[in-house]
Amino acid sequence: MIRFKAIAIASSTALTLSAGAISNAQAAEPIIIGGGSTTGVYYQVALHVCNLVNKHMGKKYNCVGRPALGSVFNINAVKRGLLDFGVAQSDRNSQAWNGEANWKKKGKIKELRSVFSAHPETVLLVARADSGIKSVADLKGKRVNIGNPGSGQRGNAKDVIRIYKLKGLRAQGLQQGQASRSLIDKKIQAFFYTVGNPSAAIEEPANSTAIRLIAINSAAIKKFVSSRPYYVMTTIPANTYKGVGYPVETYAVKATVVTSSKVPAQKVYDVVKTVFEHLDELKKAHKAFRILNPKDMMKGLTAPLHAGAAKYYKERGWMK
Ligand code: GLU
Repeated sequence: MIRFKAIAIASSTALTLSAGAISNAQAAEPIIIGGGSTTGVYYQVALHVCNLVNKHMGKKYNCVGRPALGSVFNINAVKRGLLDFGVAQSDRNSQAWNGEANWKKKGKIKELRSVFSAHPETVLLVARADSGIKSVADLKGKRVNIGNPGSGQRGNAKDVIRIYKLKGLRAQGLQQGQASRSLIDKKIQAFFYTVGNPSAAIEEPANSTAIRLIAINSAAIKKFVSSRPYYVMTTIPANTYKGVGYPVETYAVKATVVTSSKVPAQKVYDVVKTVFEHLDELKKAHKAFRILNPKDMMKGLTAPLHAGAAKYYKERGWMK
C-alpha cells in the first residue's frame, strides 16, 4: 500500500513539474485504476479503460491502470483513497457492502460504490496433467495455490475446499504470475484462479506443458451457487485453452468496477461516459471483452451506484 502512495505522489509531482514548465497549461487530474496480476484480465480492464480516458477526454485526466493484488486489496485501497477505481469480483462487491467474509471483522465498507460490470469470471482449477489430479478430491496431499491474500480467488478456493470437505491440501499463497510459473516449473501441482477467459495466466502454462481443467460441479457446489445471487453455474467451452479439448463445468462471478463515494461525481461520470461511448473500442481490446454490452454491464452490482455513474445511466434512459 505504501508503494501505491509513493507512486501516486511521484506521478503527481511529475505532473506538477511538467505543468509548471508549460505556462497556462492546466495540470491533468490523476486517475488511478487498480487491476490484478499482469497475466490476468483485471489489469487489461484497468489499462484499457485508462487508454480510452486518456485518448478521448483531451488532457483533462492522466489515467493510469496499474497491476494490483486483486479484488479484496482493490476494495480496501479504494476505501482508503489509494485508488480512484478498482476491479473486484461481484461476490466481493456484495460481501464488502454487507460486511461479510473478508469484511466480517472490519465491518461494512460504507463508502463502496459500483460503477459498472465488466466480463464474467470463472472459478478455475488448473492442474498439471502429470499430477494425477482429475477431480477436486484428488487435491488431497498436493501443493495447490489458493491465491495471495488480497486476491478474490482465495475466498473462492477456500469455499471449494470447505464444500468438498477436503483435508490435507498443501495450500500456497502465491500471486498469480508466480503461480502460473510455479505450475510450469512443477513447484505446485495445481492452482485456483477466478478469472475471465481467455487469460494469459492459463495460456502460459497451457502452451508450455500439458494441463487439465478440473470441473467444480458437485451437488453441494450447485446448492451453494443457487443460494447466492452473485454465483451462476457455467461451462467453459472446449478448446478455450490448448490441450483442453473438452467442456468444463464450474461456477462464475462478474468482474465489477468499483469506486468510493468520496470520488467526485464528475470524475466518475467522465470515466463512465467515455467507456460507454467508446465501448466498441474496449470490446476489441481483449478477447474477454468481446461480449460486453450495456445491459449486462449494469447487472451484478451490489454496492449502490456512484452518483456520477447513475447520472450517465439516467441520461441514456438506462435507469430511472
Ligand atoms: N478475480 C481475481 C481477483 O479478484 C483477479 C483476476 C484478474 O486479474 O483478472 O483477485
